[in-house]
Amino acid sequence: MSLRMDIGIDLGTASVLVYIKGKGIVINEPSVVAIDINTNKILEVGEEARKMLGRTPGNIVAIRPLRDGVISDFDITEKMLKYFIKKAVGNSLVKPRVIICVPSGVTEVEKRAVLEASNNAGAKKTYLIEEPVAAAIGAGLDITKPSGHMIIDMGGGTTDIAVISLGGIVVSRSIKVAGDKCDDAIVRHVRKKYNVMIGLRSAEELKIKIGTAFPIEEERFMEVRGRNLVTGLPVNLTISSSDSLEAMEETITTIADAVHSVLEKTPPELAADISEKGIVMTGGGCLIHGMDKLLEKRTGLKVTIAEDAVSCVAKGTGQSLEHMDVLKDALISEHIKTNYNVG
Ligand code: ADP
Ligand code: MG
Repeated sequence: MSLRMDIGIDLGTASVLVYIKGKGIVINEPSVVAIDINTNKILEVGEEARKMLGRTPGNIVAIRPLRDGVISDFDITEKMLKYFIKKAVGNSLVKPRVIICVPSGVTEVEKRAVLEASNNAGAKKTYLIEEPVAAAIGAGLDITKPSGHMIIDMGGGTTDIAVISLGGIVVSRSIKVAGDKCDDAIVRHVRKKYNVMIGLRSAEELKIKIGTAFPIEEERFMEVRGRNLVTGLPVNLTISSSDSLEAMEETITTIADAVHSVLEKTPPELAADISEKGIVMTGGGCLIHGMDKLLEKRTGLKVTIAEDAVSCVAKGTGQSLEHMDVLKDALISEHIKTNYNVG
């Protein structure tokens, strides 16, 4: 039995993944919590809670506490984190070192709270890592050399775009536009074009199954159920890939513009490295059909989707402790500045 356990947690806006060295991804569940609002008790966390989204009676709410890349409710985030740490560690007696990757919109105060929550949940020591750095390690990039890499992590709530060299972030931008905004756009588009209201889960399914970010030769179709806004009755409706393209165009353009703005700010030497190696994408959002092609067209650079794009951040987070010496700045432990702690 090993006396050391390092666990990496990707505390994502859409899902939480836990990686344990030697075991791989041991948990992959939605970052959703169901609460009874009368008693304030947590009823379910993860997959079970997700099933309740949009389907709860009055006294139960199912929420995504990290939805927009900020911690909207700290108490709930803390309980969710504890639940996942306990689940990952099981009844092992070894206290793990925990490395957590938080969405990059999270504030210093929230970061400190996450560190505390993890320590309370039984971690021997907790570190935080910056998301683009974790994504790059998980994508297998060697970020320890003085050479520029561009990584784009497109999740549910946020897209992070960063240029990394020597283990640190040189230029970056995080926007609250990613997979979820594509779902919202599909709902809006279907309502406007067909006068039918569909749910967010149906919109997400459309995006995953037939959605495209780039014009495709062979049109694909999918049937969804919604409510006709004129008659008020349930109807079936067939949606095409072109519908999805039209729906998501503005959202995806916003992401492409952000990538462009990061490239503009990239120092020339690093820009030269990137134009040689291309851009690497991670996160569930980059799996939208044609996303890579669209960005290639907009930037003129080669865009590669990392292997296992959805688990790169978790994997990179878990592996980051092996590169501690290089990652000095990207890894944070307990000593976050506490100058806000007045009064
Ligand atoms: P986060 O890190 O913010 O938790 P993820 O990296 O897990 O997010 O990505 C979640 C987003 O990816 C969601 O918007 C989801 O709909 C989308 N997604 C997941 N798989 C696919 C797919 N195959 N095609 C398109 N989008 C996908
Ligand atoms: Mg993520």
